[in-house]
Amino acid sequence: MKYDAYLPQSAIDRRQELIAPYGGRLVQSFSAGPEGQALLMQLQMKPRLDLSEREFLDLEMLGSGAYSPLNGFMDRETYYSVRENQSLRSGLPWGWPVTLSVTDERASEIRVGDEVGLYFRDLPVGVIEVSDIFQWEPKLEAFAVFGSENLEAPAIAERLDQEKMQLLGGNITLIVDQAESGWSEDHLWPGVTRSFFEQQNWLRISSLTGVSAWHRADEHIMRSVLDFSDALMLQAVPGRRESVNGLSPALIQEARQAVLRNYFPRIRVLDNRLPRLIDCEPARTILQQAIISQNYGCDRLFVDARADNEWNVINRQSLLASFENLAEAGLKIDIEFIDPMFYCDACGTIAIERSCPHESAHHQIIGNKTLADAAQLGRTLPPQLVRPEISRVLFRREQHLVDTARLKRSNNVYPHAAEISRANREMVCGHKSAVLWMTGLSASGKSTIAHRLERELLMSGHGVFVLDGDTLRTGLCADLGFSREARQENLRRAAEVAKVMRAAGMLVIASFISPFRSERETLVDIIGDGFYEVYIEASLETCERRDPKGLYKRARAGVISEFTGISSPYEPPENPAIRICTDKTSVEDSARQLMLAMADLGLLRMSRKDLPLRAQQMITVNRNLHVQ
Ligand code: ADP
Repeated sequence: MKYDAYLPQSAIDRRQELIAPYGGRLVQSFSAGPEGQALLMQLQMKPRLDLSEREFLDLEMLGSGAYSPLNGFMDRETYYSVRENQSLRSGLPWGWPVTLSVTDERASEIRVGDEVGLYFRDLPVGVIEVSDIFQWEPKLEAFAVFGSENLEAPAIAERLDQEKMQLLGGNITLIVDQAESGWSEDHLWPGVTRSFFEQQNWLRISSLTGVSAWHRADEHIMRSVLDFSDALMLQAVPGRRESVNGLSPALIQEARQAVLRNYFPRIRVLDNRLPRLIDCEPARTILQQAIISQNYGCDRLFVDARADNEWNVINRQSLLASFENLAEAGLKIDIEFIDPMFYCDACGTIAIERSCPHESAHHQIIGNKTLADAAQLGRTLPPQLVRPEISRVLFRREQHLVDTARLKRSNNVYPHAAEISRANREMVCGHKSAVLWMTGLSASGKSTIAHRLERELLMSGHGVFVLDGDTLRTGLCADLGFSREARQENLRRAAEVAKVMRAAGMLVIASFISPFRSERETLVDIIGDGFYEVYIEASLETCERRDPKGLYKRARAGVISEFTGISSPYEPPENPAIRICTDKTSVEDSARQLMLAMADLGLLRMSRKDLPLRAQQMITVNRNLHVQ
């Protein structure tokens, strides 16, 4: 020990292992697989409570260990202690209350000791063993946690609205398989990140909040921090908020991903899209972000204090002083502030006040507001502020968004009644109109079969058209990315287009991976009775072997995230109208099977018995083509 005196402080502090979870141990509480299934069965016998989105997210943070060492919704003593003293009963600092609310009426039906099933959007997602039921005092909470008596903070207002004036405390268990579907797509779990860091032998992990990454200032921060860390974890991006200064989160997300993909070592940047649960009084929010970050294995939290951010108004000195006390009380992670950044044209680089000797006339501030202003004026931003390819992503689409925002939805829409019915059209066309919605893994053969079928149907006198995902994305859906919301919107628009084409009397063959059952169900709602689900089935091995666009290879290499079948699930149809298995059949046979099925469904001009010959001809033609 005595040699310590000769060592710099940083060397003495250097840990040999990853920072410990907050409170010393990662406290997770979840149930998965058969155990989760058993719990689900038991839930059917128990009282039910529906969670708000905020409460559901809290449940997930509790279950996954992100809120360690908490293992449930707060009981009254913990709640009071957090509200009044900003600490748990053990004395560990804690920022915001983690509470579960109910109405007086509901509270009167629940007893201490009860196990209550927790539901979110009608799915059972967890269970609480109630250990306390107590009165909620919104005014006191508003004052302590949000720093004002204003009851309009969303966390308060939404409960007041629903008259949920009682709080339930007690330990929880999260049911993972169920809960996953409701959670934001890119979130990570602390146990996973910690073991990943350990595996890599990484100790210095920095957490960054409020970084949207699309512009060069963000990129500069990320790079500066990564220069002195083993890895970066990005947190609390505004992924769930409606918009940032009028910019759609989907757009920013796409630009952000492009920056991460093109300019950062993928393995060292973890994009953890934690939703912002509560924006409370600054010191509490920062404390809570620090706690969550520490649980994920980060030893430093960088707090955004830049110009277009709310933190610029806080007194940093007093915050820093309060963080020293927090450190003594058990918060191990270091907290640092990011200074306001600008592009200095005299330095020719991004800088902060401290590192730049030039007048402010040389400085250009970069941030979400800069982008929103430029978009409003129809200008793009110069390359020193935004990389050109990112600019293209943002501005090509921004125009659409600005326009759609201007074209507000109107209530004064009265569709004109058509004089020609669908039946009239079908009679003139000589065949039914329908939408054949092909779903299946990438490379299962949807497009190939769709186009083969289209040609054959057209040649035999049918009005037919292939609606293809990639084609729509170059026009009607060019403003959409690949987030879950964007994919849903893409499908919705495709379904609306299919519906119009069907109304025009056509046979529409739609080719979309459409991996989620629930989404395909919404297609039926839009299209109605002429909707036929066609499952183009092929095993993952087959698809991966074919891999005509090299997508699987890239997905396996981790270049494409959220790739259906690899890093994102495919939910096969349970009861498709038509199922074509392409594993062992040829393209021609697959197309022929589909035509036969369509004939059997009465959709075509001719019946099954007239078909084989035509289909046979089709095969011959194609074989010849191949030979040539
Ligand atoms: P998807 O549209 O489902 O992504 P594609 O049609 O683009 O799939 O690619 C399917 C690939 O598989 C093509 O290269 C095609 O030639 C090949 N393939 C092999 N057998 C079949 C089959 N029976 N049906 C369709 N495609 C097949």
